[in-house]
Amino acid sequence: MSTSQMKRLSALLAFALLSLPAVSSAQTYFRFPASQLADQCGNGGCTVSAYKDYGGRDYACGGVRYAGHTGTDYALVGGFSKMDYGVWAMNAASGTIESAVDGYFDRCTYWDQSNPYNACGLYTANYIIMRHADGTKTKYWHLKKYTQQFAVGTYLTCAYWIALVGSSGASTGPHLHFEYWVPGYGTDDPYGGSCGTPYTRWTSQGAYRGLPGIACQ
Ligand SMILES: [Zn+2]
Repeated sequence: MSTSQMKRLSALLAFALLSLPAVSSAQTYFRFPASQLADQCGNGGCTVSAYKDYGGRDYACGGVRYAGHTGTDYALVGGFSKMDYGVWAMNAASGTIESAVDGYFDRCTYWDQSNPYNACGLYTANYIIMRHADGTKTKYWHLKKYTQQFAVGTYLTCAYWIALVGSSGASTGPHLHFEYWVPGYGTDDPYGGSCGTPYTRWTSQGAYRGLPGIACQ
């Protein structure tokens, strides 16, 4: 190989190395899954009422969790009056609506554990599940009855108003249960911290007990 060929090759290699992304571009990152407008979750309208449970602690080694909780609960500070006003859940990233359930009673104040098919039981929440490009899924639970805006199979870019937050299923008050699912693993936590996973799946995780940022990936 001549010197000029060597130079061209090393230039090509340098370009190839510089072109490698820091993280796999296939990984999906999420924005906060509800509206942050001033009359919605903005101005303290929503609060974290429970994180994913890591056997008694949350991702940051705090106690904002309850036993067996698999997602994050974002509660409406104004309760049912705020729910009646209407607060929009939003898809946290681009993806396809994979499945959805609607039509169940949406003013639950307790979890009916006598039968999961009863109103306010485990299987009677209105919900949407979205599938993202990297195969991960996000789940939006306890939605208000008959407020879903898109049919199953619809592809949405990030941050559409998909349904109103409600209190259907096993729910003690109006809140959005947001859950993150990974193929081959199962339910995971989008938050990263010293008592959870070391990485975050939010575009901007935000402070503990604060809300994640609204920038789309
Ligand atoms: Zn929950």
